[in-house]
Amino acid sequence: MLDLIEQLVNIDSGSYVKEGVDKVGRILKGKYEELGFHVGVIEQEELGNHLVIKHKEAIDPEILIVAHMDTVFQEGTASERPFTIKGDRAYGPGVIDMKSSQVSALYALKALVETKDEAYKNVEIILNSDEEIGSPTSRALIEEKSVGKKYALIMEPARKDGSLVSARRGGGSYTVSVKGRAAHSGIEPEKGRSAIEELAYKIVKLHELNDHDNGISVNVGLIEGGASVNTVSPNAVGHVDVRITLPEQAEEMEKRIQEVCATTDVSGTEIELLGNINRPPMVKNEQTKELLHIIQEVGHEIGLEVTDTQTGGGSDASFTSAQGIATIDGLGPVGGNPHSENEYLEIPTLTERTELLMKTIQRISR
Ligand SMILES: [Zn+2]
Repeated sequence: MLDLIEQLVNIDSGSYVKEGVDKVGRILKGKYEELGFHVGVIEQEELGNHLVIKHKEAIDPEILIVAHMDTVFQEGTASERPFTIKGDRAYGPGVIDMKSSQVSALYALKALVETKDEAYKNVEIILNSDEEIGSPTSRALIEEKSVGKKYALIMEPARKDGSLVSARRGGGSYTVSVKGRAAHSGIEPEKGRSAIEELAYKIVKLHELNDHDNGISVNVGLIEGGASVNTVSPNAVGHVDVRITLPEQAEEMEKRIQEVCATTDVSGTEIELLGNINRPPMVKNEQTKELLHIIQEVGHEIGLEVTDTQTGGGSDASFTSAQGIATIDGLGPVGGNPHSENEYLEIPTLTERTELLMKTIQRISR
């Protein structure tokens, strides 16, 4: 398993590195085919291809597994800091998010095939290429493949403490672009209309929408604008991140953000608002609790205490959950610091979590 992880980590497969993502896909395709799976390739022009995998003998699988092949790292990262092992931890770009998960899912199915446990026929797998940029080309595929499934097992890594993920906040992003009028701030400032001043009002009003008690957050995390220090600024742009906890909060927040940006405080400026709330929250509902309970029982049998947690970050679990199927995320191995140079895999959890996944597939297929 470590050899295959090493091979995958040492291929740069950032979301925009199509060649690398496709190379990862070809390696995994070959491995699944060796086990008797049929691998369909959903070709993409700019981003990497997606794979849809199902055993040749599968009829109507009830389980959907989703694992992404892309990483957040730029081309060249793998040669700068290739796969390494220090003690019980492995390092390298994408090692935990989520190349170890890819290998774990493959080996869980390999174990089922090799022990002739027919549960492998109850699984359909999507390996997508663009999760790290919000799944723009795989979202529809995930939603389509959710139809008729009972369970979704999402292979994002387990949390640092080993917890699975049973709830995630939803959200989206907006861009607030303000147009003002330039003027020399020393000679004729009265002729100017400051876009920066207008954006400042909007930032304050957007931040007033924060409601942490109800799981709503609004953050203008990036701003840009202005021409020079002595020019009344003709332009300013704010980039806004919005998170929600309940599906019904989406419409209300979209309305309130539009209201904030519908009028100007600095006369003579203009605002253009782009964006929306595009990722539904993953809610810990009854069916998710039931699936979690089954996984906890399976964990208990193999001596693993399985805890769960919620997180603010999004993943493809939001899409399967919104389609109404029981969804648990964080089924990959345990590790930490994803999206950073210090990203690591706890090596001993690799086989442990693979066994948990394999036995969960077995249990829910009975
Ligand atoms: Zn991930």
